Amino acid sequence: MLKGKTAVITGGSRGIGRAIALKLSENGADVAILFAGNEAAARKTEEEASAFGGTARRYRCDVSDFSAVKETVSRIIKDFGRVDILVNNAGITRDSLLFSMKEEAFDAVLDTNLKGAFHMIKHCYTQFIRQRSGKIINISSVAGLMGNPGQANYAASKAGLIGLTKSVARELAGRGVCCNAIAPGCIETDMTANLFPPEELKRMVPLGRMGKPEDIAELALFLAGSGSDYITGEIIRVDGGMAM
Ligand code: NDP
Repeated sequence: MLKGKTAVITGGSRGIGRAIALKLSENGADVAILFAGNEAAARKTEEEASAFGGTARRYRCDVSDFSAVKETVSRIIKDFGRVDILVNNAGITRDSLLFSMKEEAFDAVLDTNLKGAFHMIKHCYTQFIRQRSGKIINISSVAGLMGNPGQANYAASKAGLIGLTKSVARELAGRGVCCNAIAPGCIETDMTANLFPPEELKRMVPLGRMGKPEDIAELALFLAGSGSDYITGEIIRVDGGMAM
C-alpha cells in the first residue's frame, strides 16, 4: 500500500510514534525515525521496522531546535530521496496547576509539541511542493479540544496544533498536500503510565478503558494512504468517546 513512500515520524522510538513507524513499515513504507535521547529504544524500533523488508533509519534530533531539524531533514532527503508522509508525534508533558507552573515548563512544552511541528513542516515544505503530493499528520490530543486542569501548557500546545493543521491544510491544498490531525484520548504508553486508575477511566471514557498505540497507528495508516486523499484539515478523535 505504501511501497516506494518515505515516512518521517518524530518521536518514533517509543509509544504511539513507535506503533505508527511499525504500522507504516509493515505496509511498505521506508521510515525515518526521529528521537530525542533514548538511543536503545530508537535502535529497537529501527530493527523491528527493517524486519518488514523496507529501509528504516534512526535520527537523533530534538524537534524544538530549528537548526537541528533543518539539518536532519536535509540528511533524510539525501538518504531517502523524498518525503511523502510526515507524522508530527513527538511530545512531552510538564504538568502542574497554572498557579505553580514555571515559565520554563510552559516554554518547553510549547517548544516541543507545537514549535517542533512547525519546524518539521517548514523544513519539509519545499520537498512537498516539489513532489506535488504529501500527507502531514499531526498528533494533537483531546486535551487540546477539552482543556485539562494541570495541563494548561500541554492543552495550549495541542490546541495550537489544531490551528496549525487547518492553516497548513488550506495553504498546501492546491499543491496536492493533505494535513490532518489525530486527537488521542488516554493511550497506554510511558507518558500515561499509572496516570489513570480503572474507576477514573470508567467515569471519563464511555468505552471504559485506555486505548492502545496501535489504535492510533491504524488511523495514521489510513491518513497516510490514498484512501484519505479527499480529507484535509480534519481533526479525528481516537478516544473511546471521551471528548464527544
Ligand atoms: P511517549 O512519552 O511514550 O514517547 C514520546 C516520544 O517523543 C519518544 O519517542 C521521545 O523520544 C519523543 N520526544 C520527546 N521529546 C522530543 C524532542 N524534543 N524531539 C524529538 N523527539 C522527542 O509519548 P506517547 O507515545 O504517549 O505520545 C506521543 C504523542 O501523542 C505526544 O505528542 C503526546 O502528546 C500525544 N498524545 C498521547 C496521549 C497518551 O495518552 N499517551 C494522549 C493524547 C496525545 P525518546 O524516546 O528519545 O525520549
